[in-house]
Amino acid sequence: MGTGPERIMYPELWQPESMEEARKIADNVSPHYQWAAGTTLLRTQWEMGTAPVPKHLISLANIRELNACTTEEEGLRIGALMRLNACAAFERIQTHFPLLSQAIDVISAPSIRNLATLGGNIVSGVGDSIPVLLVYEASLRWMTDTGLTEKKLTEWLEEWRRGQRSADHFLTEIWIPLPEPKPEEESHTVSFFKKIGRREAFTPALVTIAFHGTLNAQGEWSSLAMAAGGGSGTAMRLFQTEKWIRQFPVSRLPLSELMKQVQDEFVTISDVFATDTYRKQAAAGLFASELWKSMRFARYSV
Ligand SMILES: Cc1cc2nc3c(=O)[nH]c(=O)nc-3n(C[C@H](O)[C@H](O)[C@H](O)COP(=O)(O)OP(=O)(O)OC[C@H]3O[C@@H](n4cnc5c(N)ncnc54)[C@H](O)[C@@H]3O)c2cc1C
Repeated sequence: MGTGPERIMYPELWQPESMEEARKIADNVSPHYQWAAGTTLLRTQWEMGTAPVPKHLISLANIRELNACTTEEEGLRIGALMRLNACAAFERIQTHFPLLSQAIDVISAPSIRNLATLGGNIVSGVGDSIPVLLVYEASLRWMTDTGLTEKKLTEWLEEWRRGQRSADHFLTEIWIPLPEPKPEEESHTVSFFKKIGRREAFTPALVTIAFHGTLNAQGEWSSLAMAAGGGSGTAMRLFQTEKWIRQFPVSRLPLSELMKQVQDEFVTISDVFATDTYRKQAAAGLFASELWKSMRFARYSV
């Protein structure tokens, strides 16, 4: 009498071929519907009984324009329906946004990544791609009931945290601005992504962190962004810590104080797998150890 597959009531499936058609279907069946992409997460939630099966399921998978990735002079537009494996292998993503490929490569297993989409990973609110997209300053474009609208990922996550996000809107694309050209020949990029789980692979994250910054020839930060998330907690940019780090040339960054800053700012959750204290300590330790490596290997060594 559990909540296993035998109990699932299957929804009516809609497969629109354009964004306008998807919008019309949604208006007709509202509010008893849900958007679907690769359905890797949805199926699991239904099977576990952690989310109800909707009466209508509107799959966005057949909308061609949501599957494309286009490069513009100032950035990259990634269709929300792009499969994770396709994103990770996309040359422009590997070249300009390597942390995104790294983050995707440790999501679940190849069979899931062949079906799962980047949009689904973001809209889940807890996907491992989110910290990386935060440090790359990504924005999201949504189809609302009044047309297309764009908002920063940070802004959307804030709505998510407050329970204010609208499930009526669907995500159409992710915009990532290309990094500014290096200010000087001598400048140096410090960039890393780390995920800690309960085992090495095929496991949900306990903590996920991302960092992206540029050092000038004097070892001072010309730009810097850091983010942390993990578990069912919503990822966040660590703006205060970023500001604090900027005071120090990299060779004089006080790492134990850095750890304290991260723990003070990172808001996360406790669950059956780990306490919030553990997650904060783990995130702080990861930032400190990775930055320590940068201090050692950059040419600004003490
Ligand atoms: C075994 C297993 C392991 C997993 N491991 C990981 C992991 O390590 N890291 C990780 O981050 N995730 C993991 N996941 C979760 C999931 O597979 C990913 O988050 C995946 O990217 C979700 O994409 P999807 O296209 O399958 O989304 P779906 O399951 O189709 O949708 C997920 C949610 O997003 C909504 N949605 C999807 N696309 C849109 C859109 N374009 N607009 C509006 N709403 C939309 C759906 O309504 C639903 O609420 C795992 C899942 C499984 C089953």
